[in-house]
Amino acid sequence: MATDTVPPSSAEDVPSVPGGTPQTDTDAQVESRSGYRRPEVDVPALTRLLDGRYAEVRNLVRTNLAEYSSILEDAETMSVGDFRERVKDVVLEMAATGQTGMGFPEEYGGGGDIGASIAAFETLAYGDLSVLVKVGVQFGLFGGAILQLGSKHHHDAYLEDLVTGKLMGCFAMTESGHGSNVQALGTVATYDVATQEFVVTTTHEAARKDYIGNAAEHARLGVVFAQLEVAGESHGVHAFVVPLRDEDGHVLDGVRIEDDGRKMGLNGVDNGRIWFDQVRIPRENLLNRFADVTPAGVYESAIENPNRRFFTMLGTLIQGRVCVGGAGINAAKVALTLAVKYANKRRQFEATSEDTEELLLDYGMHQRRLLPLLARTYALHFAQEELAAQLHDVLSGVEQDEHTQRELEARAAGTKALGTWHATRTIQECREACGGAGYLSVNRFAALKADTDVFTTFEGDNTVLLQLVAKGLLTDYASEFSDMDQLGMVRFVTGLAVETVIERTAVNKLLERIRDVLPGGDEWDQDAGLLDPDYQLAMLRFREEHIVAGVARRLKRGIDRGMNPGEVFSRVQDHVIAAGRAHVERLVLEAFVAKTAALPDGDQKVALNLLCDLHALSVIEADRAWFMEHGRLSVARSKAISREIGSLCRKLRPIAEDLVDAFAVPREMLRAPDLLEWPPA
Ligand SMILES: Cc1cc2nc3c(=O)[nH]c(=O)nc-3n(C[C@H](O)[C@H](O)[C@H](O)COP(=O)(O)OP(=O)(O)OC[C@H]3O[C@@H](n4cnc5c(N)ncnc54)[C@H](O)[C@@H]3O)c2cc1C
Repeated sequence: MATDTVPPSSAEDVPSVPGGTPQTDTDAQVESRSGYRRPEVDVPALTRLLDGRYAEVRNLVRTNLAEYSSILEDAETMSVGDFRERVKDVVLEMAATGQTGMGFPEEYGGGGDIGASIAAFETLAYGDLSVLVKVGVQFGLFGGAILQLGSKHHHDAYLEDLVTGKLMGCFAMTESGHGSNVQALGTVATYDVATQEFVVTTTHEAARKDYIGNAAEHARLGVVFAQLEVAGESHGVHAFVVPLRDEDGHVLDGVRIEDDGRKMGLNGVDNGRIWFDQVRIPRENLLNRFADVTPAGVYESAIENPNRRFFTMLGTLIQGRVCVGGAGINAAKVALTLAVKYANKRRQFEATSEDTEELLLDYGMHQRRLLPLLARTYALHFAQEELAAQLHDVLSGVEQDEHTQRELEARAAGTKALGTWHATRTIQECREACGGAGYLSVNRFAALKADTDVFTTFEGDNTVLLQLVAKGLLTDYASEFSDMDQLGMVRFVTGLAVETVIERTAVNKLLERIRDVLPGGDEWDQDAGLLDPDYQLAMLRFREEHIVAGVARRLKRGIDRGMNPGEVFSRVQDHVIAAGRAHVERLVLEAFVAKTAALPDGDQKVALNLLCDLHALSVIEADRAWFMEHGRLSVARSKAISREIGSLCRKLRPIAEDLVDAFAVPREMLRAPDLLEWPPA
């Protein structure tokens, strides 16, 4: 990072924390003395950088969104029934442009490019989110399951019509009784050797499928997850294609469907419940990429261990998770665009002048509220870009080793959790930052809040996902990783000496890396510059290593004392989740630092370095108690970090509007005439 162009704030350019000496020089004066020059942002160039390899795809989606922008109003004015139909129509019309089928093989009318399909989906999050989720259900979940879990005859039978939207379907995994714990599903598919069919049954009330998108009205087929039973033996959860409705939309015999009713948001998506009463489907309807049943009733799979088979199967479905994380990050961009632009026009109270009221964005607190969130949005954007590229390589067969796949799964889980939590937090802060105006539906926040809320839950509950991240860390994605459930992980960790755990964890190299880049024994954290990315990364690496080792120690101690492994795990669980979070925070910062480091020198690099520093120091500041507790942050240095954050916010303030403009959210999707064309003519 070009620390020479972004000098740290000196004591004189920042008034000290409350009670300090008032500042006499303006920031501009201090900046010119220190050699700092405000960067000019070339907005189109920054948009090109953000759009990356898939600029063309993203622009196609932007054009489509603008064309259907009236749907944002329809969401408020139409009945639920009419709005669902409208959303379906828009989805089908978008499908006709090729936008939604980019991830499918070309021979079935797709674009043959996984990375492009993720970029298209993320960009769709600038618009109405019912459209986004309906696209996700039809092409990501339903289509993705047929593509990834099925074999050629399934592809031949369904993909072409599925890609155009002629064949609508749903992904029926969750049951009322079980969402996160998919291995415990209650739906059963029993093989009947006499007729060579599977018989699908909802075994008890809590085993009804629930919250299933497209189920209440539009799905003709379902990919249904059920326990496979052959000759009295259970082989765990497998996926089956089950017809739900005929061509005229009538629900078929043996199937019962109920509407989930009105939801907190996403009311353009028809979520529903499904019951199966002895529904017979042909043997070929088992999606058999990983396991099959012969006509004579013999179960066959190349993956012997049932746990491993199950996790391998689920692992192929992570694209949806990656897409939802990216959509959350892009929804946050919409909120920030509105709040930053409004704050750059809206005035309230005289402050620095007696005749003119101050712009909201000139208030230190307003900068503090919005700009770290803006910086984090950029950080998550680049982390998501790396993740999407990795997923593209793995799913396209460029990267095939198992370790890389497991790492990718953990990274997808963690980035989804951080991205969607970030959306929830950012949208709320931006709503408040727009005051009463933020509460009016025309200004977008009502829909953004209501529609993105559930992103933290579907495609994997965030807390449960961070646990998955930690499991990978504690076992270094060992070959046994995919065989393990929670208790298996505890047994694995406790079976090793703590030192071995640390050696075998994915963070074993972190401390060495800290020492390599920041020599100076244990003093590195006191001597390094706050704006030195090596320092910032070393802090996050130290935290991660320390937390993971701490979890391992606590797990072992509990087991050594003879406690029940489940009880030990439960007591340590907050620590486990903290390990997962610390790991993903480190990956996010690494992605941002790598992105900025690779840029040629110039104003764009300076601007992104400001954002990267602000993000890094905000992450450290947010957990300053932990760093102080662990001897890595003195009181003086902690205060210096807060000062530096204030200074970075002031440096970013003049370019803040350019930085949100670079997201290139189409004007039509922002609506908000009162926020964007303030004051009224
Ligand atoms: C609008 C919407 C659309 C959906 N669409 C679909 C769809 O199309 N297809 C589909 O199959 N599913 C769908 N779902 C279901 C969704 O994926 C699940 O709701 C989700 O996986 C969470 O499962 P759950 O609701 O059973 O929550 P639970 O798993 O019961 O979780 C409840 C709470 O308990 C916590 N918790 C759970 N396990 C643990 C643990 N081990 N340790 C600590 N805490 C824990 C969680 O963090 C969470 O806060 C949808 C849901 C919604 C709301």
